[in-house]
Amino acid sequence: MGSTAEAVVIGGGVMGCSIIYNLAARGLTNSVLLERDLLGSGSTGRSSGVVRMHYSNEVHAHMAWQSLDIFQNFDQIIGGDCGLTQTGFLIFTGDEDLPAFHANVAMQQECGIQTSIISREEAQEIAPGFYLDDCAAIAYEPVSGYADPSGTAAAYSARARDMGATVMLQSPATGIEVAGGKVVAVTTRDRRIETPAVVVATGPWSRRFLLQHGIDLPLEATRHEVIHLRRPMDKLPYHPGGADIANLVYFRPESTDLTLVGNGNMEDVVEDPELFASRPTQRFIQDVWTRLARRIPVMAEAEYTTGYAGLYTSTPDSHPIMDRVEGIDGLYICTGFSGHGFKLSPMVGVLMAELMLDGKATTIDISTLRMSRFREGKLNRPRYGFKVLV
Ligand SMILES: Cc1cc2nc3c(=O)[nH]c(=O)nc-3n(C[C@H](O)[C@H](O)[C@H](O)COP(=O)(O)OP(=O)(O)OC[C@H]3O[C@@H](n4cnc5c(N)ncnc54)[C@H](O)[C@@H]3O)c2cc1C
Repeated sequence: MGSTAEAVVIGGGVMGCSIIYNLAARGLTNSVLLERDLLGSGSTGRSSGVVRMHYSNEVHAHMAWQSLDIFQNFDQIIGGDCGLTQTGFLIFTGDEDLPAFHANVAMQQECGIQTSIISREEAQEIAPGFYLDDCAAIAYEPVSGYADPSGTAAAYSARARDMGATVMLQSPATGIEVAGGKVVAVTTRDRRIETPAVVVATGPWSRRFLLQHGIDLPLEATRHEVIHLRRPMDKLPYHPGGADIANLVYFRPESTDLTLVGNGNMEDVVEDPELFASRPTQRFIQDVWTRLARRIPVMAEAEYTTGYAGLYTSTPDSHPIMDRVEGIDGLYICTGFSGHGFKLSPMVGVLMAELMLDGKATTIDISTLRMSRFREGKLNRPRYGFKVLV
């Protein structure tokens, strides 16, 4: 069966859904999203959904801050519910990372982000029961929190469909046809869609899919675990979200009495994104729980409820690739968001639409996310060893 589309987006994670929505909002309503399984069935559906602003580089800080504005006004701007819950967010550091920490918070403030370094006494008011004596500095973001990654993807996709886009589930793209240096079509098992523009937003599947088309990028699928602990509610009814650089652990409240805990640094490379152990290991549970309890001692009395693992799409500098492919007109790549992409997803769609329709992303300079940086040896430099903070 054949058809035509103004653009085809491959991958129905939060990035692909944000992109197809933003293309439709900019007038490209005859576009198609192909998803091999179900929306959010990749990294998006396993995401912890943390929405915080603490980054060590301007490109991510701007993307996170401008995305927060969209999350906060999601129903008016996009339509639907992204599940934003503004718990406030604390970032703790020890002596080792102190100079970088101060520089990063100053940079974030210059970007307009609502963040400041607060005293231990102020932090104790915000987070009663936390152990803070070891903290060299603490930053606080009062408007950060978490949102619903699958719900956000579904909302973007629904609005794109309302505007005329087609979203095809259980429809893996099998290939991209190129002729005369230009994209001409995308194929699935039973369909050929003629199109001049294709975005590859295939998350952990990207390396393999791109290799098939002769594009060799240093992308790895890496496995990361998350657990949910039931809090002793009489002692800790509530707490804000947090990223603890000293103990390499992040956490946030989940529903009424649970605390979601992740690490992000303990990772295993996965050869085949179809095959990975989806349950957490005993080793991880013990390790992450012990480190959480260093910051929140009463969590030693918590009860394990459940856990799962998901895949990051990791690059050597933990920065994504958002670019056009040199030498193939109409081919774009949007992948490699490691463990911090969800919070950027609203702006990722805006910027990819600018790149495709205006020839350049203008709202935020994304040149540091170009794919040629690996070949040029010009990698971005994350300032922390804590991968989820980049
Ligand atoms: C455990 C975990 C915790 C995380 N926590 C956070 C967090 O707290 N905050 C944050 O900001 N980020 C977090 N992230 C990162 C964030 O979830 C990801 O960066 C984001 O979801 C990536 O979205 P994506 O659309 O690029 O990829 P995905 O969600 O993986 O989507 C890619 C899609 O492409 C589809 N696909 C693949 N191949 C094909 C094909 N050939 N044809 C059609 N479809 C195809 C897949 O089925 C998949 O649905 C976390 C990630 C994980 C795994």
